Amino acid sequence: MSTEKTRCLIIGSGPAGYTAAIYASRAELNPVLYEGIQPGGQLTITTEVENFPGYPEGIGGFDLMEDLRKQAQRFGADIRSGIATATDLSQSPYKITIDGNKIIETDALIIATGATAKFLGLPDEQKYAGQGVSACATCDGFFYRKKIVAVVGGGDTACEEALYLANLASKVYLVVRKDHLRASQIMQERVFAHPKIEILFKHNTTGLFGENGVEGAHLVKNKGEANEEKIDIVIDGFFLAIGHTPNSEIFKSYLERDEQGYIKTIPGTPKTNIPGVFAAGDVADPYYKQAITAAASGCMAAIETERYLNKNT
Ligand code: NDP
Repeated sequence: MSTEKTRCLIIGSGPAGYTAAIYASRAELNPVLYEGIQPGGQLTITTEVENFPGYPEGIGGFDLMEDLRKQAQRFGADIRSGIATATDLSQSPYKITIDGNKIIETDALIIATGATAKFLGLPDEQKYAGQGVSACATCDGFFYRKKIVAVVGGGDTACEEALYLANLASKVYLVVRKDHLRASQIMQERVFAHPKIEILFKHNTTGLFGENGVEGAHLVKNKGEANEEKIDIVIDGFFLAIGHTPNSEIFKSYLERDEQGYIKTIPGTPKTNIPGVFAAGDVADPYYKQAITAAASGCMAAIETERYLNKNT
């Protein structure tokens, strides 16, 4: 296995990773950034980003990430494709294995590995994977023009996906387990006002059915109550939008994490329990999870890295 030494290694290429790369390269730390499983991160599979400051008309998620990438490269960030597959953070320099075949030794590490979409855990989700089950409306919505789809979840993601799909599909069911939505007011209002979206409050999905891909879903209304009722809906596509799991597994032997797996940082800073190891963006943020907060924490991680390296190397 080959070994390479760097001062500053960044893992992940969402807003946190790229912003860290912009700051670290401008500070002449010569950062190396590995893009990870999803180059550009989750925003590359979203539609319009309306709330990133500086874009009064909104910007496509993919375009925003391309701009951040180019900005980092302009200052010399070494951006590479590759996935961190193992770590040894027992002592500095920290060792990160890339793609199982190369070790990067680094004086400082910025973890910006983001989070991955959750599934309900039903065996049918696997049975119909690629045949009607998806966790990304913008990736797969195209296949459901003039068809009927269901989106599971009651947060901003679910509302955003339901609205996106409503532009393509003939009908969208929004399957919500509670009697209310968790999404922001503006998204709730848009969903309520859309004539093609029907919200099924207090419904849980128990399974999917269909001979050739998904043809319907089995739901339970008012689960556990006296008026519990089983309902089947006819659908062609089943979209999950029920939150995310932080991509922190490979650090678990070394870094403190909360019960959901988010890397714990010293409040108000990107500092983890290991000096010189910083966490930024969704992998360490169970609460805000916004592109702009991820970018801001990437900036903080790069500034802390510079201070750490000045003091310790
Ligand atoms: P959230 O955690 O906010 O919402 C997840 C939703 O899925 C909740 O309604 C939750 O229900 C439901 N859910 C979770 N598990 C299950 C399950 N097993 N069965 C059924 N339903 C389930 O995740 P989001 O991805 O929607 O949003 C994450 C963050 O990103 C939020 O802070 C959000 O504001 C932000 N965001 C912002 C956007 C924007 O500003 N444009 C766009 C997208 C996301 P329950 O309420 O019952 O827990």
